[in-house]
Amino acid sequence: MTRTTAIFFLFAFLFLAIFALRREEAPSPLTRTQMLMGTVVEIRVLDDGAGRYRQAVSAAFAEMLRIEKLMSPHLPESDISRISAATKPVEVSAETLEVLQTALLVAAASDGAFDAGLGRLIRLWGFAEGEPALPSADAITLALEGVGPNSLKIEADKIHKLFPRLAVDLGGVAKGYAIDRAIDILAAAGIKHATVNAGGDMRLLGDRSGSLWRIGIQHPRQPGQILASLNLADRAVVTSGDYERTFEQEGVRYHHILDPRSGYPAAGCQSVTVVARKAAYADAMATAVFVLGPERGLFLLQNSPRAEGMIVAADGSVKVSTGLQEVIVWP
Ligand code: AMP
Ligand code: MG
Repeated sequence: MTRTTAIFFLFAFLFLAIFALRREEAPSPLTRTQMLMGTVVEIRVLDDGAGRYRQAVSAAFAEMLRIEKLMSPHLPESDISRISAATKPVEVSAETLEVLQTALLVAAASDGAFDAGLGRLIRLWGFAEGEPALPSADAITLALEGVGPNSLKIEADKIHKLFPRLAVDLGGVAKGYAIDRAIDILAAAGIKHATVNAGGDMRLLGDRSGSLWRIGIQHPRQPGQILASLNLADRAVVTSGDYERTFEQEGVRYHHILDPRSGYPAAGCQSVTVVARKAAYADAMATAVFVLGPERGLFLLQNSPRAEGMIVAADGSVKVSTGLQEVIVWP
């Protein structure tokens, strides 16, 4: 072997060795799923050496479960059950207070379309209990007693109910808050690129290791089909859809997003997707815009500097807020 050939082989060997090492270190994402809040929650970490964040991911799941229990209307010891049962101002955890603040903010902005005081009406329809049925008109009127824009307020960190029998339901906002808490825990552990996805409602931590995440929006009438995609980083994307929890009775389909003015399912939209920094706010806004319907809903989105969104109206037509138009990709 001449000296030149020897040097050639040496370099070739070094090159291959470095290449093999780099492949070894190539980021392999950490993906874990768990059943929580009635849906599959997936946490994905893309950072280099993602494996070392296993504990942070477990802690994020544990926090989501803690939030779910705190805000469940079905567990008698939860903050929500305590508020619903109370006849005097109630003290609750800092987390429940924060979620109620978001709920009241969105309630005010949406003229009461979002209403955290619909607990009795929601229980009457029975969507969460698994045996939903069309209630009588009288029962609906009764369940709407005391419901309205001023039915709940926060004073000196206590929850005040104006009508003692008012029951609280945070089903339209608590999932988003749980997603936010999970992201907080991942970020505190030093993670820079991750997603928390709870059945299609999600928040993105950072970007996708140098590029944007591409988030598909479910077509409300074609299961498994994407209506459009969004190129985003560092945002929450939350969808409210009339296809999520439904039942049919005498040929009519009913769903779980209720209009507080009538007590019946809101009829204006098929789905609403909201993009914001925080998932709790996006979650409440998606429900609010859904109830308002396409025209008033779009008006609310255009006038909310912290939210953008897309509305699929009942007739299938699509409206997109100005700020979302530059990140949306049609198939
Ligand atoms: P989402 O899927 O986020 O739109 O939330 C729907 C859930 O929010 C329902 O299952 C109820 O628990 C609750 N909800 C229904 N209608 C309303 C409303 N108008 N305002 C606030 N929460 C609601
Ligand atoms: Mg919601």
